[in-house]
Amino acid sequence: MKIAGLAIFPLGDPKQEIRLRRFFIGTAVHLMNIVFVLLCWIFAYLSTHAVALYLSLDILFVFVVYFLIRSGVNKRFKDPSLTAIQMLTPAVLGLFTMFFAGEARGTFLLLGVTLFAFGMFRFKVREFIYLAVVILLGYALLIFLLTQYSANVINLKLEILQWLAFAVTLMQFSFLAGFIGNLRRVVDEKNQALAKQNAELEIALQRISDMAIRDELTGVYNRRYLMERITEEAQRCTRYGSVFSVCMVDIDFFKNVNDTYGHLAGDEVLRRVATTASKSLRATDFFGRFGGEEFVIALINTPMEGAMIIAERVRQQIESLTFPEIGINLKVTISIGVAEHARRAEPALTLKLADDALYRAKDSGRNKLIAAPLSS
Ligand code: GH3
Ligand code: MG
Ligand code: MG
Repeated sequence: MKIAGLAIFPLGDPKQEIRLRRFFIGTAVHLMNIVFVLLCWIFAYLSTHAVALYLSLDILFVFVVYFLIRSGVNKRFKDPSLTAIQMLTPAVLGLFTMFFAGEARGTFLLLGVTLFAFGMFRFKVREFIYLAVVILLGYALLIFLLTQYSANVINLKLEILQWLAFAVTLMQFSFLAGFIGNLRRVVDEKNQALAKQNAELEIALQRISDMAIRDELTGVYNRRYLMERITEEAQRCTRYGSVFSVCMVDIDFFKNVNDTYGHLAGDEVLRRVATTASKSLRATDFFGRFGGEEFVIALINTPMEGAMIIAERVRQQIESLTFPEIGINLKVTISIGVAEHARRAEPALTLKLADDALYRAKDSGRNKLIAAPLSS
């Protein structure tokens, strides 16, 4: 288990984690710079004093930035990534060290170039140019100070040439930064457009797959899907001996509903009957519209006795429905034929047996259920 206060990365804040990761990459660059400065010291281009000062300031800087990000104080800043500070400070430190570096001064410029290479991916072009100007001015100031304090050891023409070369390099980097910035923007826009298209496609796909298996009017499963599932269940029954039952449901005297209240009201009644019946079933059962005002219930892992209990419950629920928005006197009943699927029988046979039972229920007075005899 990680302890929040001691973890190197802040826990549960992905943005801060990215900032810290970037900081660590920057710190690796610092380490390389430190090695370089130490080399200058070993080769006696830099005095012990200058190196000690550089090292203390650089290490202090690294710890301060780590503290700022790790503690979350950076979030209060305008630029919480602290990019500008993380670019400018090493640049200023570099210039400071260059002042003492004698003939090795020019080599520091190469390190400055890597700094810019990093900035290219983070800065906007304007910020990038600001940074370049600040550093070039700093470098110019450095040359000026050198002419004041070490006039005898500097080669002014060479320094100016180096300054110009550095300026040209930074200008080219600025163009590249602009180019990369544009590329990034285009990629971002394309990504956003793609994400939007994906979301729309997903919705469309969902609609299409719904349309393929659902009945448009009632939203319950359609006949094709029901047949697929019943066929599948019959195969499972043949293979493993599982039991299932099928109920054929038909609304009684539905034609009267249409004739009395109109076809649209009839549609509404169909919807209510379908949703009421489908809600009263278990998640493993299937309920769908077989056509017109006929529905089918497939009761998985359910023998005849259980199916009769469930069918009776559905019958009662439909019987107790009221339709105040259509007609206060409107009542709807259903008749149901129930058949248990026999092992190795064709699914069509089971449906036919349920249908026969349904017609017997109709003939014997409606609003009731009748069990079909077992087919085997
Ligand atoms: P029974 O008790 O014998 O089943 O009588 P019934 O009137 O329900 O049976 P019949 O088969 O004579 O009539 C079924 C009616 O269902 C006729 C048809 O117009 C109506 N119907 C079928 N599909 C729809 C539909 O999608 N919407 C509406 N509103 N009515 C439909
Ligand atoms: Mg009917
Ligand atoms: Mg019918």
